[in-house]
Amino acid sequence: MKEQIYTIPVIDAFKVDTECPFCELVHKLENDAIEFMLGPSYMEDDIRMETNKIGFCSEHYKEMYKRKNRLGLALMLHTHLQKVNHDLSKMLATLDYSSTQKQSLLSSFLGKADKTASHSNQASAYITHLHENCYICNKTSSTFDRYVDTFFYLWKKDKEFIQLVQNSKGFCLHHFGILLYIAPQKLSGTTAEDFYQKIISLQLTHLQRIEEDIEWFTRKFDYKFADESWKNAKDAVPRTMQKLSSLFIEEQRE
Ligand SMILES: [Zn+2]
Ligand SMILES: [Zn+2]
Repeated sequence: MKEQIYTIPVIDAFKVDTECPFCELVHKLENDAIEFMLGPSYMEDDIRMETNKIGFCSEHYKEMYKRKNRLGLALMLHTHLQKVNHDLSKMLATLDYSSTQKQSLLSSFLGKADKTASHSNQASAYITHLHENCYICNKTSSTFDRYVDTFFYLWKKDKEFIQLVQNSKGFCLHHFGILLYIAPQKLSGTTAEDFYQKIISLQLTHLQRIEEDIEWFTRKFDYKFADESWKNAKDAVPRTMQKLSSLFIEEQRE
């Protein structure tokens, strides 16, 4: 398997013993992004302008709060809130209760056309826009898209990578869905057929395996099975949650 600088993260993720190599990639990207945010980046003007405008989602606020750089987080919160207060107070001052389709002012605030048609006023559209965006989510999702491209590139070019994928434990449902959705854009003919055949069989095998693991976990609470081995079920709860929902709990490897 020839490793290139851009294929290394993808190949490495498939070497980890995990319920979903794509969750591994997302976790690493988010972790790096959080460290970057709380490093010197929040002092950089262009980044700060972006975070002032869009802020973060609740999940990433929570992750940043867990880290110890309270001043870095507080500085970003302060100037983001300043911007929100400034924008929102302007919109609320001119709120037209009877208006259903006033979009023009909003576009100038957001700098682009937005999904605002269903909003009866700018302020509610502005708030929705804020909640649909997060500096870290936006940053990681564009890199993640490149990883998906790399996955298909490797699948087409490298037989050893196909073998590595087949030796993995499949994917969480969310990332399996993404593969099924993107595959027609990336593969065709017999390559596509072969991909679907391999990936579906892999996924079904591992969905079945995890169903057996979680079932065995529940049976272990029955006194009749108390003395029997846990088999692979000891950490079946976090692994099943990840398979179903992409929830990534690091301590599951302990
Ligand atoms: Zn996943
Ligand atoms: Zn986020």
